[in-house]
Amino acid sequence: MLSDLHNHSIFSDGINTCEELIEQAISLGLQRIGLVDHVWRNSEWALDFIETTNRLKEKYEGIIQVVSGLEAKALTCTGEIDLNDKWRDKVDYILGAIHRIPSSSNQFYSKSDKLPDRSKVYEDWMSTIQGLLKNDMVDIVAHPAAELIQYQIPLDDETIKMLCHLGKASGKVFEVNVKYKVPVQAYLDQLIANGIPLSIGSDSHSTAQQKLYIKDIIAMHKRLASCNLI
Ligand SMILES: [Zn+2]
Ligand SMILES: [Zn+2]
Repeated sequence: MLSDLHNHSIFSDGINTCEELIEQAISLGLQRIGLVDHVWRNSEWALDFIETTNRLKEKYEGIIQVVSGLEAKALTCTGEIDLNDKWRDKVDYILGAIHRIPSSSNQFYSKSDKLPDRSKVYEDWMSTIQGLLKNDMVDIVAHPAAELIQYQIPLDDETIKMLCHLGKASGKVFEVNVKYKVPVQAYLDQLIANGIPLSIGSDSHSTAQQKLYIKDIIAMHKRLASCNLI
């Protein structure tokens, strides 16, 4: 099913409404759209988002399948996420993301850090991703390992093997994110070889971005046609 399972609306940092994103998805020929917004534990809009997406699921039934999710970031190296668990079962899926890498000594590594110790960043990242894979609240690992790119930390074969092993045991879905072009080829190849379930998302924050990424979404569906796509 031609799907884009990662689109942000005005509920968080997108610039279009959920309905505008759905209308654009229909005109682009998508069969399923995932409405996802960045959430924090105390986000006051979360219940409104859930109500809105439920209403839109009904409104567009038979035209396009609408699914809903929340994207929550890792807060700690143990993989705890920024999500209120009472929303957990009110959406179709939770995207667990590493945005800033949590640090075991400070709160997070930051882009403005001067020359952070890359081996320490890597160690804390490994611990965080392992924690996310063990976290029952997470269904989909968002943009896998995109957060390492800014530190120019490559994924070696041994790490990829280990992540696939843990990924398979966890039963979690890994996102193929066409905006950030992750997972990198070697990682994606191993996820496929291990039969790990995959989702495809654009991480669009507007209808203009949906249009921009639709070619990549279609191309990725063709490429992964024989894979374990959700
Ligand atoms: Zn994200
Ligand atoms: Zn996102």
